[in-house]
Order: sequence, then structure tokens, then C-alpha cells
Amino acid sequence: VTDLAGRQVTVAGLGVSGVPAARALRGLGASVTVVNGSDGEPQRAQAAELEPLGITVRLGDGETLPEGAELIVTTPGWKPTSPLFLAAAEANVPIWGDVELAWRLRREDAPPWLAVTGTNGKTTTVRMLAAILEAAGLRTAAVGNIGVSLLDIVLGDQPYDVLAVELSSYQLHWAPSLRAHSGAVLNLAPDHLDWHGSMAAYAADKGRIYEGNQVACVYNAADPATEDLVRAADVEEGCRAIGFTLGTPGPSQLGVVEDILVDRAFVADRQKRAQELAEVSDVNPPAPHNIANALAAAALARAYGVPPTAVRDGLRAFRPDPHRVEHVADVGGVAYVDDSKATNTHAAEASLGAYEHIVWIAGGLAKGATFDELVLTAAKRLRGVVLIGADRALIREALARHAADVPVVDLDRTDTGAMAAAVREAARLARPGDTVLMAPACASMDMFINYNRRGEAFAAAVHDLASGPVPDD
Ligand code: ADP
Repeated sequence: VTDLAGRQVTVAGLGVSGVPAARALRGLGASVTVVNGSDGEPQRAQAAELEPLGITVRLGDGETLPEGAELIVTTPGWKPTSPLFLAAAEANVPIWGDVELAWRLRREDAPPWLAVTGTNGKTTTVRMLAAILEAAGLRTAAVGNIGVSLLDIVLGDQPYDVLAVELSSYQLHWAPSLRAHSGAVLNLAPDHLDWHGSMAAYAADKGRIYEGNQVACVYNAADPATEDLVRAADVEEGCRAIGFTLGTPGPSQLGVVEDILVDRAFVADRQKRAQELAEVSDVNPPAPHNIANALAAAALARAYGVPPTAVRDGLRAFRPDPHRVEHVADVGGVAYVDDSKATNTHAAEASLGAYEHIVWIAGGLAKGATFDELVLTAAKRLRGVVLIGADRALIREALARHAADVPVVDLDRTDTGAMAAAVREAARLARPGDTVLMAPACASMDMFINYNRRGEAFAAAVHDLASGPVPDD
């Protein structure tokens, strides 16, 4: 256990992860300074909460390294190229994320971590994994990037046998000493490139999840980049590469045979046969990308020694979180589907691929993404497109290049009311049997606090639509 008593620690950023980190560090006896670039009302309120605890809060300057700083603990919003971090590197001051801090502070008898990352499907997979572990009678929790602070878990009193941990690429970037029992990279597609700087840097950060794995490095057989990351990792002796595939599995893989999820990786040698785990219909919803998530969760659970029956029972007990391809209502024979969690093109591609005739509501913050590939694959399914949000021009231009016949309504709006207008426009474009799919392929923060709010705004607009005639204006 790392002893931080009396150490000068700088926390970079307030907010949902900075405030608890500052409190925890102070509780451990560290001398804590929180720095934050903006100096508005919310920041002052947070400062007023922390200062009585003996924490120094510096607002309005997030760039200068505080005098005497020995360690920086960062929140996810800060880019590696932030001036504060460049100054820290210059002064040989280490930088840890919240995950690194939690990993270092965990107790000696702490539960092992089964860790999940990937561009999409993390939350779903971690929840499936926790459901499977629970079905096996294990004391567990879904934690990490999912919204449950690892720091609270490792410093708390509740006993766990094993943790199902969601990790973002940001968290992995700043977690150099993390060593999971087993880890999985679900898939790799361009996302957050503005933060990481390049696809190679983003992939390398994701690949950190495999470092020091003890039992299994789980990769996606359909996504060779994930297997490359396994090869590049330095793992414990005896740790195996385990693949998952939607097809027939090879040895050391889990896969699907005649609508049955099967495991060929964790069967006894003499047995050699594939072990049946669950039926495709046990997966909720049984869409291809979600079956992949279920196989990844099963692989990690099996690596931990969970029996096949628990995989089946856990998958049956699993319920998806809201705003992930969620059916909101049918209005006038048109289905309205909320995939607000599709905050990048890879996720939007999965849901756009699931419907025949789509009126697509898209746009928001692109985070450095390009849309040509997505528009190309979706073009023939599109009845029409309604664009909202800050970076909608990028999508409009891709549509002009690859789907010039598809009617596009560019709402030219970034206010929160734009969602209701978008739903009304979509209703006009849709024909009975179509699906209006809000899968923006972009982050929400230009218009909403988060993707939940965006999804709620969509659902509210759909319910309004259901309760009245479509206005003409
Ligand atoms: P994350 O936690 O990685 O953001 P979620 O489970 O919350 O992942 O799902 C995010 C979005 O990605 C949703 O829109 C969902 O429909 C889509 N999605 C889920 N799993 C996959 C997958 N394996 N491949 C592609 N898209 C996926």
C-alpha cells in the first residue's frame, strides 16, 4: 500500500472525479491542492466544500505546477499535452489517474479485477460480467468508468470476491502499474483521437489493460488490432490469449455454433469438445454486437473459474442500461429508437446496421472523427437524415459525397430544444414501417450535460409526438 501521508499532492480538476479524489487523499493525510482552469459558480461551490477540510483550491489557473508538488492525480478531462503535465514531466513529478490511485491504495487482500475496455460495449459487457459472477454466488460489483468510483470501492468496507471493472482509454493511459487478473479489449475504432493524439496512441492506451494479466487476455477475433495488443503485452507466465468470435470457435476461443454460445478455451484437455454456455436468445438484445459482448463477459468469467450454468443464468438475468438501442414508442407505425449512447461512429454503425429503413437523427461533437465510412455503410438504409449539433457539417458533407439522394434536414441548431424539432422533422420524413433512430455518432456535450439527457430529450419529444398531431410549421 502506498503511503501518501504528508505528501504534497496536486489534483488536476474538480468535478465528479476530482472532488472525491481530493477528499480521499486528504483523508489519507496528504497535503492536497486542487487546480482548475475555470473559475465559475459551480467551481466556487465545490471549492467551498473542500476548503474546510484543509484542501487548497486554486481556481482560474490549471497550468502552473504548484510549488513543491510531489504527485499529480488527474481527472479524465485533462489531455496528456496539458501545460500542467508538461511542467510535471519536466520536474519528474509522476501523474496518476483515479484508477492508478485506487490500484495503489487497495489493501493486501483486495479482490482481483476482471477488466474491460474497448471503443464500444464496455458498460454492457461489465454489467453482463457482474451478472454472471453474481449468478455464480460471488460477491461482486460493476465498477470504474461505469460510474462507480474505484477509489470508494477499494477504500470502503464492503467485502468483495472479485470486481468487474470498466476502464476507459483515459484511465488506462494514467494507470501504469495496474495488473488485472484478466482483461478484455472488445473492439478498436477511432474515438477520442483529439485527446490521445493518434489512433496508435489510443490503441496503445487500450492495450495497457493486458499488462501483467495473470490468467487470460481476451481479444476480439474479428478485430485483429485487439489481438496485436495481446501480443505486444508483457503478461504473467501461463497467461493465455483467449479469443471470442461470432463464428465457430477455434481452440482457445469462445464462439457461436448453431445459435449456442460455446466455450472451447476453458474445457478440460481430455474433453476437447466445446462446452455449451447459453443460447443466443438468452442474450438481451440478441443483436450481433451484443452477442460479442456476452462472449467477452463469458470469457472473463470462465477465466475466473465460473461454471457454464452461471454464464447462462447471468446472461438471462442481465437487463441493458437505458439509451442503448432502446425502443421508446411506436407512433403512426414508425418505431422510435434511442441510441443516445452511440457517441462515436463505430457504435452508430452497429445500430444503423440493425434496421432496414431508417430516418437517422445525428450530430453533436465529433471529437476528431470522420464520417465517410459510416455514411457509406449506412447509405442504402437511409430514408432521410436530420442533423443537429455543433459538428453536423461534417456529417452533411459526408452525406453529400456518398448519399446525395438521401433527403437531409440540417436544423442548424445546438440549443436543447433542437431535439424536439429534430423528432418532428424525422416524423415527417418517415413512412410506416420505418425506424427513427437517434444514434448521433457524436458526443452530446455541445447541447446536453450528457448522453442521458440527450436520450431523455428524445424520448420526451417522441411522447409529445404520440400525444398530438404533427404541427405544420
Ligand atoms: P461503452 O461503455 O463502451 O460506451 P455501451 O455498452 O454503453 O459501451 O454501449 C455504447 C454504444 O455502443 C451503444 O450505442 C451500443 O448500442 C453500442 N455497442 C454496444 N456494444 C457494441 C459492440 N460490441 N460493438 C459496437 N457497438 C456496440
